[in-house]
Amino acid sequence: MAFGSRVLEFYDEEFGRDQPSPAKLGVEESVLLGLIPTRIKEGDFDALRALRSTGNICSLAQRSEQSAGRKPSFQGSLLHSEKIDFVMLRSWLRICQEHHTRFCGLRFDSAALTVPFLQVIDCDTRRIVPATNDCPYLALSYVWGSSVTAHRKNEVKFLLPDDLPNVIQDAVAVTRELGFRYLWVDYYCIDQDNEREKATQIKFMGLIYEMAQATIVAAAGEDASFGLPGVGNTPRLLQPRAIIGKQILVSLLPDPRLIIKQSRWMIRGWTYQEALLSRRLLIFTQHQVYFECRSMHCKESVQKPLRELHNKDMQRFKKFCHPGMFLPINQERRKLVPWQDFPKVLSDYTKRTLSYSSDSLNAILGILQMFEQTATPTYHHFGVPILPPFIRNWTGPTKYRAIKRSSAHGFAIGLRWDLVKPSKRRSEFPSWSWTGWNGVVDGSSNAQSRYNTESNLNSPYSDIRFRAETKNGQTIDWDDLMQIIQTKSQDLSSLSPILIVDAYTIKLRFDYNIKSADAYYGSGYYWKWPRKPTEFPEKWGPYFYLHLSLTIEPTYDFAKRLVEDEWEAIALSVSRDEFMVIDEKNGVAERIGILSALNAISTPEDHALLKLSRRTIRLG
Ligand SMILES: [Zn+2]
Repeated sequence: MAFGSRVLEFYDEEFGRDQPSPAKLGVEESVLLGLIPTRIKEGDFDALRALRSTGNICSLAQRSEQSAGRKPSFQGSLLHSEKIDFVMLRSWLRICQEHHTRFCGLRFDSAALTVPFLQVIDCDTRRIVPATNDCPYLALSYVWGSSVTAHRKNEVKFLLPDDLPNVIQDAVAVTRELGFRYLWVDYYCIDQDNEREKATQIKFMGLIYEMAQATIVAAAGEDASFGLPGVGNTPRLLQPRAIIGKQILVSLLPDPRLIIKQSRWMIRGWTYQEALLSRRLLIFTQHQVYFECRSMHCKESVQKPLRELHNKDMQRFKKFCHPGMFLPINQERRKLVPWQDFPKVLSDYTKRTLSYSSDSLNAILGILQMFEQTATPTYHHFGVPILPPFIRNWTGPTKYRAIKRSSAHGFAIGLRWDLVKPSKRRSEFPSWSWTGWNGVVDGSSNAQSRYNTESNLNSPYSDIRFRAETKNGQTIDWDDLMQIIQTKSQDLSSLSPILIVDAYTIKLRFDYNIKSADAYYGSGYYWKWPRKPTEFPEKWGPYFYLHLSLTIEPTYDFAKRLVEDEWEAIALSVSRDEFMVIDEKNGVAERIGILSALNAISTPEDHALLKLSRRTIRLG
């Protein structure tokens, strides 16, 4: 079954909920056709979803119409499977460079911020040359893949080899077609044999992508051998088309954002910050090229009335246009709020996969540095946020007020991250940091409210102190560590994962509960608080469930220990009574989970019952 729909039903691919009328937008009405399965009724939500994956059908742009003084409209364009229309791609870049100065321009003077040892490929000579202050370059974001082997640089060390993987070969061609000369590709532009250089470049990876004029994204195929569709030897999927009378009808192709979300590129850990930090993305899919900058987004198959979609000052798309895939965080970086966006970013990032778990911090460093440049600067230690002395003000989502809190207490709250489900340890990183776990960080609104909290400075166990330890066993005071973190005056690679914690701890035992129909919580391990808090709803009971970080599989020995042993937990001095449950072996403790007592421990009698003891713990 087919039905017609007008431009105002260009549905959620183009606009958000408040769709403008064509008249208001100042464009001609466009007729779109959609093919949907017969079981779906017109106007059904599933129909819109089906259309996103099949693509609308539209008549081809007629040159004569545009010259006849008619208003612009949404029209289809004819795609060649062998050859990309680089004129179109160049025009997108030009609009962005000329008009989006406020959002897509560099937010700093590029000459003032240079990346040490930065090298780029000179696509004219195929030589790898040191980047100068004046060499606008493109960057490549791709998946290398395990099956690809490539020769390193030639004997002449600074020359690209002849047998490049397809994706690199094609990226060189695209760079030239777009009128640029220089290209940055990690594999060839970072000297893999020079450990010091490599370590430095990895720290600057975010900046390398941000400084690029645009990033070429290879979002098709499984690895680097696939290439960029429509460029070299890799053809694109054929665009469906039909001639009816004098009209040529073309498919506008599936929503590229759906296709990109399903790509291998999208699930890799490293590509997360590459996409978020780039100012302009040219994403090559099997169907077409999708462009996204911080102000607009376009795809090859549709000729959009770009001027009409922009605000008057041409700085960005109008509000009712759908935001891009990566735009929200990208454009609003000054407005990033740590208690809300830190858990969200960590959650998005930890859903992706890394070939080497040793990259778990490096591959997101660029994003973490973004939080240092916001209105409420937020630093981190091993990826754990040191929450600044601000808290959300309920007058608005980005409004906040100053509170009294030391950086150590801000870090204690940062330690209260949670995993969506228990997972395995990554031994290279500490258990007190999410980097030390192969699991997805909870980014839900619950997690956000846990970070948007005050320290319980009136509680008798609010005194919590931290020190760091270097790999050769020296300790660094917290204030000195903060100084180093904020000023970047020293390399932190000399630090060991050990965190020395001076804090109050409690001893506790757990029982196991199988979910019953009327239980507020599901099944799990819980600690039974001996006093029934008077202000507590009955259904919450005096039971506090353990949020395990460590999985009990595969041997279940740990499960047995959980109910048989006595456990110790560090009071994190957070207003909702949060404790980090630890397992200590050979003088080093590891986090196994978090216990939330939800303000149940409030009276002097409660505190007396807790049997607090003061301890110094080496937490690894
Ligand atoms: Zn732009």
